[in-house]
Amino acid sequence: MLTLRKAGPRQRKKLSLTSLLTGLVTLVVLLTSTIMLVGSYDSKRQSLMETTLHLNFTNADRMSRTMDSLFQSIGGSLAYNAQMLSDMDVRTPEQVEHQLKLMRNSSNYFNSIVVIGADGVVRNVEPATIGTAGKHISSQSTKEALALRQPYISAPYMTATTKRLIVFLSQPIFSRNGTYLGILGGTIYLQENNVLSRIFGNNSVDDLGSYYYIVDSDGHLLYHPDKQLSGMDISSNKVVQKLMKGESGEQEVRNLQGTDLLAGYSSVPANGWGIVVVSPMSLIHRQLIGHIETIIGYSLVPFIVLLIGVILVARRLARPFAYLADLVSKMGKEKIVIPEAKPHWSREADLLTKAVFLAVTDIQEHTDQLTQEAATDALTGLKNRRSLEYTLSQWIDSGTPFSLIVLDVDRFKFVNDTYGHVTGDEVLKHVAGVIVSSLRPDDVCHRYGGEEFVILLARTRPQEAFKVAERVRRALEQSKGPIPSQVTVSQGIAHYPLHASEQEGLLKTADQALYQAKSNGRNRTMIAEDKPAAPSA
Ligand code: GH3
Ligand code: MG
Ligand code: MG
Repeated sequence: MLTLRKAGPRQRKKLSLTSLLTGLVTLVVLLTSTIMLVGSYDSKRQSLMETTLHLNFTNADRMSRTMDSLFQSIGGSLAYNAQMLSDMDVRTPEQVEHQLKLMRNSSNYFNSIVVIGADGVVRNVEPATIGTAGKHISSQSTKEALALRQPYISAPYMTATTKRLIVFLSQPIFSRNGTYLGILGGTIYLQENNVLSRIFGNNSVDDLGSYYYIVDSDGHLLYHPDKQLSGMDISSNKVVQKLMKGESGEQEVRNLQGTDLLAGYSSVPANGWGIVVVSPMSLIHRQLIGHIETIIGYSLVPFIVLLIGVILVARRLARPFAYLADLVSKMGKEKIVIPEAKPHWSREADLLTKAVFLAVTDIQEHTDQLTQEAATDALTGLKNRRSLEYTLSQWIDSGTPFSLIVLDVDRFKFVNDTYGHVTGDEVLKHVAGVIVSSLRPDDVCHRYGGEEFVILLARTRPQEAFKVAERVRRALEQSKGPIPSQVTVSQGIAHYPLHASEQEGLLKTADQALYQAKSNGRNRTMIAEDKPAAPSA
């Protein structure tokens, strides 16, 4: 993988391919998911709101129909019983009481029932424990009902004696000959168990937080899950205002506490009341959050799988580049073995790998050739003086014992002078060829310069080297060269470490032996330390 590297004097962080691809994919996934989530959030919000509004309206409508028929029954029951009491002026109070008991037990619509005479005195009350019998009516609603002489439904009000919030419904009682006798009234205790809560349920808040409330035709709360609010005037509420106009429908509304609600509302024809079913917007938000969490939950696993896939692909993609960088950085330091190129699945990586392999092979071949040329003498093809010095220092450094023969062509100046330089060169090539063919496989001959050669013989004692030198000398002596006259050589031998422990001293010692050989008449070999060796025939 391409890792962070220093670039120039300033350290600049470089991005790895893996980080780059991972980052890009993450960015794309995040952007796509955000767009997708925002879109999904919007449409889901819209559909949830529409569904909730519609559901609330359906519920409100259903409840309002139930309420309508309930109040028709209540009205019918009151009217029937009022009719039954048309002879109440000739009945005893006990008979009337019996009638009321019968009525209360049979229908159960009212929390209490009362019969008020046309004079405003309470004739009977059921249950009698209320204790208003015989008293003069005091509340505005009962006075209104009595004066109206028609079916009547009051606004909610607080009773003076029992301090209950009630709604009062009544029917006038007429005698058979049409004399107005008073009213038969029923009360519903709004904050207690009553006919409404029995029909619509006591627990009006469902699991999701939706609830309903009932308002009367003046915008007073008749029923609310929070019983403390019963009787409250909420006519400023937009939905209530519509109900007061007898309208039904659905809409978003903010309640008096400032909470946003989705309301479905429906008015009740029988009594002019209205039923509102509401769901808090927070309910929608909770569902939306759940929806978003589900989407994220579903997309998380594919995203992680995708990310792992990208990391793996990126690493595999980056691998050839890192490998090639490593390969090229080794160039010049060690011999690079080019592996068999397997085609890479990435076209660019494959092209680059092939190109780099080709370039490295080419450069190595060139380098090898140059190295070879730098170590070779152009005329004879032997190793040159640079190569000699290199081998000498290596052997001395590693402590390898060896013998060294310095070889000089005798009277070469004469050859040049007589046959010319070009022929002189031919003679040198001839001498080189004869030397090489006379040596042992491991012995190495160098052209030291001019018509001087140096032969290295690893792990060879001077006496052994002498034998080799003599073989060379004799071979030359007997060879047929490019010129008619015989070519001879003189040789000096020195041994490492017997004669010297460093390069310069060793060459000098061998040179002295060579000088000795020249002085002694040429065409001979001398070992250093003045050990004369007679030329063997
Ligand atoms: P001695 O036996 O004392 O070695 O006599 P010599 O003539 O060989 O002595 P010297 O070393 O003075 O002469 C060597 C000559 O070799 C001098 C030079 O002209 C000749 N020479 C040196 N390098 C080359 C070369 O590359 N080609 C040719 N043709 N001649 C060379
Ligand atoms: Mg010479
Ligand atoms: Mg010479």
